[in-house]
Amino acid sequence: MKPLYALIANPVGHSMSPDIHNAALKEAGIDGHYHGFQVEKNQLEYAIKGMKALGISGFNVTVPHKVEIMQYLDKIDVTAERLKAVNTVRLEDGHFVGYNTDGEGFLHSLLDALDQPLSQLSFLMIGAGGAASAIYTTIAEYAPKRFDITNRTIEKAEALIENAVGKITSSAFALKTAEERLGDYDVIIHTTSIGMYPNVNETPLSLANAKKTAVICDIVYNPLETKLLSEAKQLGLKTVDGVGMFVGQAARAFELWTGITPDVKKMKSIVIEKLGGTPC
Ligand code: NAP
Repeated sequence: MKPLYALIANPVGHSMSPDIHNAALKEAGIDGHYHGFQVEKNQLEYAIKGMKALGISGFNVTVPHKVEIMQYLDKIDVTAERLKAVNTVRLEDGHFVGYNTDGEGFLHSLLDALDQPLSQLSFLMIGAGGAASAIYTTIAEYAPKRFDITNRTIEKAEALIENAVGKITSSAFALKTAEERLGDYDVIIHTTSIGMYPNVNETPLSLANAKKTAVICDIVYNPLETKLLSEAKQLGLKTVDGVGMFVGQAARAFELWTGITPDVKKMKSIVIEKLGGTPC
């Protein structure tokens, strides 16, 4: 059977994963196909059983199924277990094994913009949801100088910090406090949905107090340049957009399924073109 890969999400229509994975399959000379399926929450268990019965080689999982799916898989790898979320599943000897490639995807995109090791940098994260958890847990392993979290619901930021493995210096506080302390950080990572299409005029905080050398990251990638990134550019700060994380997690998933490293630059071009930008 030709290998079949999938995405399960709800909604799924807007996703660019089929575009980049089908292009990567073609590029790799693999006669397979990647298809997006809209799955309702109460159908998730049946969808997984159906995919197993059909012999689907691997699939991605996104909102709202990343946590729920864990109970229906045969095995969870240690990173996904730690993050308590799965975004990629691979069929291994008839068993579905869950992985999480979001943190690695973000790290990849960040490293390109840094000229110092993570251990010498102070981080601030805005947001404490699923994507924030993947990023925090991944970067914490590199023992940064400190990694603070600000979130609308402070309890969620506190819970993230409490669950951290290993030694990491972190505090949780309100957005107002973060705005005042912004000058303490080398890297600021925005992980909420503020500023995402159609609310493109929204921004989580003012960057007026940021260090001149700070790197500003926004994992929202629609629009390509969020209001936060536009303000950062006006202030002359280095920026990292969300496309890098998106294609980074996809590239790692593709490697898990096929053993082949796809052309990340090509994946990025496809996404940027679809978003109306100029392909790289
Ligand atoms: P999530 O688990 O639902 O978390 C949402 C986060 O946003 C929480 O911290 C939430 O705060 C905060 N938030 C939402 N609306 C807010 C508002 N109006 N004001 C202040 N805070 C608000 O979602 P997620 O999966 O982490 O995704 C978050 C964003 O990242 C989405 O825009 C998603 O598209 C993007 N994302 C991008 C990539 C990529 O590859 N580039 C990957 C994953 C996600 P509370 O805790 O107070 O509710």
